[in-house]
Amino acid sequence: MPILEVRRLKKYFPVLGGVFLRRTGWVYAVDDVSFFVKKGETFGLVGESGCGKTTLGRCIMGLYDMTSGSVRVQDSSISKLTPAQKKSLSTHLQMIFQDPYESLDSRQTVRQILEEKYIIHGKARNDLSVVIGQLLENVGLSRDCLSRYPHEFSGGQRQRIGIARAVSMNPEIIICDEPVSALDVSVQSKILNLLLELQKTMGLTYVFISHDLSVVRHMSDRIGVMYLGKIVEMADASTIYNNARHPYTRALLSAVPLPDPDARKKRIVLTGEVPSVENPPPGCRFHTRCPHADVICQESEPLLLDREKDSGHVAACHFF
Ligand code: SF4
Repeated sequence: MPILEVRRLKKYFPVLGGVFLRRTGWVYAVDDVSFFVKKGETFGLVGESGCGKTTLGRCIMGLYDMTSGSVRVQDSSISKLTPAQKKSLSTHLQMIFQDPYESLDSRQTVRQILEEKYIIHGKARNDLSVVIGQLLENVGLSRDCLSRYPHEFSGGQRQRIGIARAVSMNPEIIICDEPVSALDVSVQSKILNLLLELQKTMGLTYVFISHDLSVVRHMSDRIGVMYLGKIVEMADASTIYNNARHPYTRALLSAVPLPDPDARKKRIVLTGEVPSVENPPPGCRFHTRCPHADVICQESEPLLLDREKDSGHVAACHFF
């Protein structure tokens, strides 16, 4: 049974305009997305900036109200919980944010940042200093850091503090929202390896969000590729990399640097306008940029289908 199940999730933001700020339209940030995640696995969500993957992560966390659809964590449907039940569930579901500079309160010491969740959830104990000292050591920082402020640390160290905060309540699931994209390349692999190590020792389940396919490949068991608010292809990681079917996935893959010197020749350069999520094109949303688009692509929206019968490899393309 999946530990996390997202069903037909939609998140539309109103567009306000005019003198009276009336609603003039919608931003279709996430539009009918479904997937599940099994315990202990990493589900990667990849796509260009603005495709809706961060909004989707925030809806799962309950930071945004869904327009429709459902999110189930273990046996609980998030939208049906009382505020008290939501608070209790939030210990099982945590998030690591993209920006380690913005996500930590600069007025709090590391001790205060890490103690906060224990206090909020009524888990403060006499030996809390020992517990959070150990927490810091588990993410590769020294206990001496407890009295220091976030501005005294490098980006990588701040992200380690953010990770310590996320794992402090022994969660089951962590939504990792671009956890290394704001960091120097030299520290990215250290943070990724820390996440993998914590997953192994704590039995964590990750939803790993990134625009970088090579990072997602390194981290994920299964991958969902998002384009303009929708998942357009989903399969296990090796299938996505070796047998991608959707033209958008293929274009993304072709942009990943490879050691093969001929690889550059194979790159698929997408042309055409990137459509607005406020006014997505009819039919297949990718048809304005797709090198294989045909008349049917402009008229009919392809469904996300498994054409190989229960293979778990689904793609939304008329010619998959
Ligand atoms: Fe391209 Fe058509 Fe497939 Fe969409 S349905 S990805 S436009 S070929």
